[in-house]
Amino acid sequence: MQAKNQKIVVLGTGGTIAGESSSASEGLSYKAAQRGIDVLLQSVAEIGQGMPKALSAFQFESEQVAQVDSKDMSFEVWQRLALRVRHFLAKDDVRGVVITHGTDTLEETATFLHLSVDSDKPIVVVGAMRPATAYSADGPANLLDACSVAANPSAAGRGTLVVMNGRIHSGLWVGKRHVSSVEAFDSPLAGAVGEVADQAVQWFR
Ligand code: ASP
Repeated sequence: MQAKNQKIVVLGTGGTIAGESSSASEGLSYKAAQRGIDVLLQSVAEIGQGMPKALSAFQFESEQVAQVDSKDMSFEVWQRLALRVRHFLAKDDVRGVVITHGTDTLEETATFLHLSVDSDKPIVVVGAMRPATAYSADGPANLLDACSVAANPSAAGRGTLVVMNGRIHSGLWVGKRHVSSVEAFDSPLAGAVGEVADQAVQWFR
């Protein structure tokens, strides 16, 4: 599949990845779900340029599906999200969908989409442990990694994936194991399915 004329759709639902605190040194006390998905997407562009080279052939489209702290995730938002994911994945020019999400119920959303959306195209759920305002915010790197995974030809047929801190997990096995570390997600029974660094994706299996 050629990247030319292919699109990656990024859907925003809120979470810490879209969170803001009153100062850059404040990484634990903040308000989740403050920044729009268009602003988050801009944060992964090269300074003064567009997307990093590996992704520059793709077009990007974003949509704000919800703006919630994911501890308040609801069946209504899940239903809307699944409808929008199915809508975009049915389009010929869409390579895959990335969803920004809070980490509290990220694994539930990933499992739900894995089991309820029937498509070979990748669905990649991504979050962050630090708000967007933090000195060392992990959101932009995680979002860039998630887009790189959605763009990767070998991501097809793997169902819903979760990308956090350079690791790619299956939406079926992943779980949150830590409340503050950027290394918060793990797949204890199955292990990670791959890793991503500098837009290069490597699959373990
Ligand atoms: N409470 C936040 C949320 O789930 C936590 C996070 O995103 O890390 O939206």
